[in-house]
Amino acid sequence: MYRTYNPGWIEVICGCMFAGKTEELIKRMRVLEYAKKRVVAIKPTIDNRYSEEMIASHAGSFVKCVCVETHDLASIEKYVNDKNVDAVVIEEVQFFDEGIIEICEKLAGSKKRVICAGLDTDFRGEPFKVMASLLAKAEFITKLSAVCCVCGAPATKTQRLINVKPAKYDDPIILVGASECYEARCRRCHQVEK
Ligand code: ZN
Repeated sequence: MYRTYNPGWIEVICGCMFAGKTEELIKRMRVLEYAKKRVVAIKPTIDNRYSEEMIASHAGSFVKCVCVETHDLASIEKYVNDKNVDAVVIEEVQFFDEGIIEICEKLAGSKKRVICAGLDTDFRGEPFKVMASLLAKAEFITKLSAVCCVCGAPATKTQRLINVKPAKYDDPIILVGASECYEARCRRCHQVEK
């Protein structure tokens, strides 16, 4: 039987919204399944957009996962601390508490393949702290781009619109009673009101 030496590592899939991060994550999980590898997928409970207990892409693909509260890092360790688990997949990793960084390092150190996906920056273009650290510590990085809604150029930024106007830098993350949406935009078309 073939045995490949597996030192463990961290790979990160990042980018703005609508760049296909979840599709890429699901694709990597499927390839691992073809190889009969044991994969545990985790996502924060904050993300209920399409379905619970599933990682679902905008394009309609989905895979099973376990949902964990963003601060409940002990549960993650419980799910993945099994020497038979080959790979750990974490979706929307930017939402987890900062302790997730150490967990990823520990998992990689125990010969697991760790695949994290998430937004690298918020709607203001500022880095998510968890993602910035993971990108610095990862062995492999894939930064995906979308298509700018305004001019069609490659988009790397998430535009937040509130009642059709660009959101202000200091707007709270949750605005009750406002109609809110997000678009992918390029550097030139991305707008944040000061
Ligand atoms: Zn543009």
